[in-house]
Amino acid sequence: MSKANESCKQAPGKIVPLIDLNRCEGKGPCVSACPYEVLLVKVSSKEQRTGLSIKGKIKGFVHGWKYANVIHPDLCQACGECVKVCPEQAITLVRREVKLT
Ligand code: SF4
Repeated sequence: MSKANESCKQAPGKIVPLIDLNRCEGKGPCVSACPYEVLLVKVSSKEQRTGLSIKGKIKGFVHGWKYANVIHPDLCQACGECVKVCPEQAITLVRREVKLT
């Protein structure tokens, strides 16, 4: 757990992380940084891979199709720790209406 929960002011689940699969390389610092276990790195499904750019497909193949996944969106408190630690700048926080990856 980080100190992020001390500064999280958003009600859980209203703002959630959106992962850009064309950028994510599945390295996982976001998983470690999240105080609420919202994220998990796992191998993507074929459905998740549709829509990737050519560069995204090459990157995905190289890193074994591993990506950060939002597994518990209801627990996200929008503290932004995952955004700060992502080396690929693959995470943005969005309002819940946006389809999650
Ligand atoms: S903003 Fe990121 S680090 Fe913070 S609770 Fe949500 S998923 Fe976890």
